[in-house]
Amino acid sequence: MPIRILPPDVADKIAAGEVVERPASVVKELIENALDAGATVVRVEIREGGLRLVKVVDNGSGIPHDEVPLAVQRHATSKITRAEDLVAIRTLGFRGEALASIASVSRLTLTTRYRDEEVGTRLVVEGGRRLRLERAPHPAGTTVMVEHLFFNTPARRKFLKKPPTEAGRIHQVVTRYALAYPDVRFTLVSDGRTVLQTSGNGCLGDVVAVVFGHEVAREMVPFGQVEMPWPEPGPTPQVWGFTGKPNLHRANRQHIILFLNRRWIHDRALVQAVVQAYHTFLPVGRYPVAVVHMALDPHLVDVNVHPTKAEVRFRDPRAVFHAVQKAVRAAIVDVAPVRRAEPDITWAQPPGWAERRRSLVEAGQQPAFPLTTDEEAGPLPKPGDTTEVWTEQGSEKPGRLLPLLRVVGQVGAAYIVAEGPDGLYLIDQHAAHERVLYEKLMAERAQGAVAAQHLLEPVPVTVDSELAGLVAEHLDALLAVGFEIEPFGKDTYLVRAVPAVLSGQDPARIVEEVVRGLAEGEDITGKAVEDRLITTICKRAAVKAGQVLSDQEMRALVRELEACNTPHTCPHGRPTMIHITAERLAAMFGRG
Ligand code: ADP
Ligand code: MG
Repeated sequence: MPIRILPPDVADKIAAGEVVERPASVVKELIENALDAGATVVRVEIREGGLRLVKVVDNGSGIPHDEVPLAVQRHATSKITRAEDLVAIRTLGFRGEALASIASVSRLTLTTRYRDEEVGTRLVVEGGRRLRLERAPHPAGTTVMVEHLFFNTPARRKFLKKPPTEAGRIHQVVTRYALAYPDVRFTLVSDGRTVLQTSGNGCLGDVVAVVFGHEVAREMVPFGQVEMPWPEPGPTPQVWGFTGKPNLHRANRQHIILFLNRRWIHDRALVQAVVQAYHTFLPVGRYPVAVVHMALDPHLVDVNVHPTKAEVRFRDPRAVFHAVQKAVRAAIVDVAPVRRAEPDITWAQPPGWAERRRSLVEAGQQPAFPLTTDEEAGPLPKPGDTTEVWTEQGSEKPGRLLPLLRVVGQVGAAYIVAEGPDGLYLIDQHAAHERVLYEKLMAERAQGAVAAQHLLEPVPVTVDSELAGLVAEHLDALLAVGFEIEPFGKDTYLVRAVPAVLSGQDPARIVEEVVRGLAEGEDITGKAVEDRLITTICKRAAVKAGQVLSDQEMRALVRELEACNTPHTCPHGRPTMIHITAERLAAMFGRG
């Protein structure tokens, strides 16, 4: 066949495929148009997952009568005029192809009234051909009705899922805009049933509650400036939103929702920034729930990367990454278990109580915990002293983590009972020790390498052949965490040293367990490998439940826990302690 320019209707259909992939993309484009027109009320109605009908009604500016025919022309837009405008896009739409694309693959009826005009206009287009253009009544604003989507592109229609699935995607789209625009009242009606309704009162927390349900929303904490008006985009990234407390987690990353300048974006790196903020707060393989808003000068972002505009490119991706990670981290360090939002309530204190309690604390100062005999637990804090919150990458957030605790005893050979100025603490000895060891090893690694204990005689260890490859692959990481291992024939390795915290344990079993830890869960590389190795080592080395501890051992452990940067959770994210406030105890005893 000779080369020919495609007839316009064929070209249109091809181009339409890029923008209008499925009913949800129609809903997305129509909502964006409504928002760009300044609507404060947006109502979406769908039938049969949008295949039969998508209708979006808004109370925005409307379109002047004379401009209506242009609205459905390709590359016709009121939002940009010059190529230079592309460097700083402030509207959701700008490509001028949505209505044209949709109209080329459906029957589209646009009814609108410009706010300064008396009568409205109706335009009907089917398969890209104009059927009618007439005057018609309409309240100020616009209604776009899209029927029989893809009626003339059977190939596309074949790829669609069943109506409930398509309806689900539409629901997701509307949800995202509702979270991005709390000041807009959104309604979604599917086959006659209202499935989503926000108030438009401008309160992000209210939308979060509608979207996630009250139960979940209660477990989420606000950070940054969540009240509207929101920060204006500026040269440095600003971050705000809601993020789950560490006890709220999910099996995948899909519950981390990101917005940039009120546009939903898909950005793996930033999702990872949120996940990393929860490092050691969440169980392995679990992910947080978060709604993260960012504002950044549009000059510093390119949104014109992809027709659906969900992918963006940052001029300085690292700055954005750190801003997100820092903001989320600060929010959760603030609410990590144990910490309470209410003001501190302390025990009723008889005269001299504080001094007496303190001398009891001091009396137990000698660290005698068997695995840390060579460790100084550091000077005892002075009365009223509190441990500073760990600061990460220059973030500072001084606050208190754990008060000075007095060990009262052990129960069930598993839990330490302790008293603080503000109530009773029950500490899980295994989880607490894991945390202590974890921070110790991480600190050692940060300074070079984890302390190793050389074996008197190197021990040959044969590992399962499925694990042998992993050992070979990660010899360097193993070295960094205290293992000196060298290949010694097929599937066999010579172990010369083990991490000091594991000295005295059977090298064969340790190596096996640690390497098995690597084989589990997601594939990881780089520093994450060492992290996981360290977590496994800590688990193995920590005192177990069922071990009876002496008073001295318990005191040493509690002292070390007090010195931790993140004392409230173990490296897997489980709590190390339960705090029952003085107030709660009083209430339980009916003391008012
Ligand atoms: P874009 O949004 O990229 O400009 P569209 O094809 O989506 O392109 O819309 C074309 C034009 O039609 C817009 O620029 C706008 O001027 C007008 N328009 C579309 N929908 C609406 C609406 N709901 N309210 C007001 N104007 C609208
Ligand atoms: Mg548009």
